[in-house]
Amino acid sequence: METKAFQAESKKLLDMMIHSIYTHKEIFLRELISNASDAIDKLYFKSLTDDSVGMSKEDFAIRIDVDKDARTITVSDNGIGMTAEELENDLGTIAASGSLGFKTDNQLGDDQQIIGQFGVGFYSAFMVAKRVTVYTRAFGSDKAYKWQSEGVEGYTIEETQKDDVGTRIVLELMDDTDDEGYSEFLEPYRIQGLVKRYSDYIRFPIKMEMTHRQLKEGTTDEYEETTTLDTLNSMVPLWRKNRSELTDDDYNSFYQEKFVDYMPPMAYKHVRNEGMPCYDALLYIPSKAPFDYYTREFEKGLQLYSNGVLIMDKCADLLPDYYSFVRGLVDSEDLSLNISREMLQHDRQLKAIARSIEKTIKSELVHMIKTDRDKYEKFFEAFGTQLKYGVYSDYGMHKEELQDLLLFESSRGEKPITLQEYVDAMPEGQKEIYYASGASREAVAALPQTEAVLAKGYEILYFTTPVDEFAAKQMMTYKEKAFKSVTESDLDLSTEEEKKALEEKQTESKDLLAEMGKALEGKVERVVLSSRLKSHAVCLTSEGDLTLEMQQVLNAMPTDKKVQAKLVMEVNPEHPVFARLQTLAGTEKVAKYAKLLYDQALLLEGMPIEDPAEFSELICELM
Ligand code: ADP
Repeated sequence: METKAFQAESKKLLDMMIHSIYTHKEIFLRELISNASDAIDKLYFKSLTDDSVGMSKEDFAIRIDVDKDARTITVSDNGIGMTAEELENDLGTIAASGSLGFKTDNQLGDDQQIIGQFGVGFYSAFMVAKRVTVYTRAFGSDKAYKWQSEGVEGYTIEETQKDDVGTRIVLELMDDTDDEGYSEFLEPYRIQGLVKRYSDYIRFPIKMEMTHRQLKEGTTDEYEETTTLDTLNSMVPLWRKNRSELTDDDYNSFYQEKFVDYMPPMAYKHVRNEGMPCYDALLYIPSKAPFDYYTREFEKGLQLYSNGVLIMDKCADLLPDYYSFVRGLVDSEDLSLNISREMLQHDRQLKAIARSIEKTIKSELVHMIKTDRDKYEKFFEAFGTQLKYGVYSDYGMHKEELQDLLLFESSRGEKPITLQEYVDAMPEGQKEIYYASGASREAVAALPQTEAVLAKGYEILYFTTPVDEFAAKQMMTYKEKAFKSVTESDLDLSTEEEKKALEEKQTESKDLLAEMGKALEGKVERVVLSSRLKSHAVCLTSEGDLTLEMQQVLNAMPTDKKVQAKLVMEVNPEHPVFARLQTLAGTEKVAKYAKLLYDQALLLEGMPIEDPAEFSELICELM
């Protein structure tokens, strides 16, 4: 019999299969089952209009058999089968799965990814088999054929005997080596696991003989074995079922099982989009951030199915970074099983799905804020920081999308508030959104700079996570109200008369303030009298964009470039300490007082002081 050569491209693909890395090998079963399911689909559709098929939906099935002695796995279907011509064309070339773009050999790494994540069809059988034999009889034909190949060398086709319509594919497994074992694929439980993982939602039953061990009736230690033909797949995916048939429990346990979480999700959404793009999705918000959520190791993404068949475990393109906490899956009929990763990234269908999913997530979150505030606060505790990073990242591109999802602590009380709530509560005359940054609620509340703003009856947002202030700087405004740090030097809270009075005092104490400024050269730009302090003697404010807190955050990052905020030290003219300073003007004590006050201001900010030894000496001396 003549051995025919594979087409050049097919040969290359086969070569890739044979040398594929081990962890990808298991997908061969998914590929064969998908093909079998497609073939059954074709005959099933024919049966709807053609009585000569003589089969009803219940008759169709895929069957898997393993034979440990012969080391074979057999996948059989009663689908449409292949004619001699189809065998030649479909299995002799890879034209049918032509979406796999070929690259040069030095990009083998990428090819391996494709094998792992996407289908490469029938040829994947050669990842585990040393010989593949296909017996097939097409519907409407009385002849059957046998196709056989041992890999790159080529294949043979000959007539054979087969009584029923359909296809049977026999894989003779490769021998185990020191590095790689193939015998595992002869274990029914391993096969069952693979079917569950990759092919659970195939619409036709996938059957295999399974042996079960049970206690013999009436005994406590005698077992008997029974063998039954089991259906391994659950067939109808949860997301294809009607929402009305399903309970919260169904959705929650599906999540916990599928995404291995010991806690039920905080929220879920079952999406069925029948328009364009057409897809089903199950989206979940976990109750807790995974332990690696805020690290580089965390991988975002949704599972991607094409018509019930898993094609990718974590499709990152389906989720923007700021919603990376969402888990779940998307199933679309319009995606090809054999699409490559590179093509997927540019796939318009996938992009449309991603946009649609983003909208869904947003509207779910908005809904949660409105209808279940407690839950939203819990959600925000777990994932809010990610939303704030989202506002800040990509040059603020997503701030419009995200700003109404943010919560901040505030001077109002224990409960965090939205920006809209802040703006709604602004009294007449307040033009800006005030905020103060610090390590905790308590630390911020104790800041001297907050006093004057609170005295005015204005609310202050408490920025207690490092990203808060960066997000605010990126937003610049909310509803046309600018964000303003209470530590900014030009905090304009006084009336005209108050300003005038302060200016006069300032001129009177000009020399004293200059003396103090000199003592703090390199630390602050200047020392001025303050209108914002009530009970405290001193505070630090900043000029320009960079505040002291931002300086702190930025300088804690692992970079050589250190930044420095432009600081101004403000002294309370009504404070006894200032009265004392006035009596000391012109003496060397002014410099010592100035340094002490500066350190004191740093401590109030929750910042480390630069020279603790000097600080402590100065205190002793002045005491
Ligand atoms: P794809 O499934 O992407 O087309 P494959 O290499 O897996 O690529 O299969 C090539 C073709 O061989 C299929 O399109 C189909 O026409 C045919 N084929 C494969 N398996 C079967 C089967 N079990 N029954 C009928 N036809 C099959």
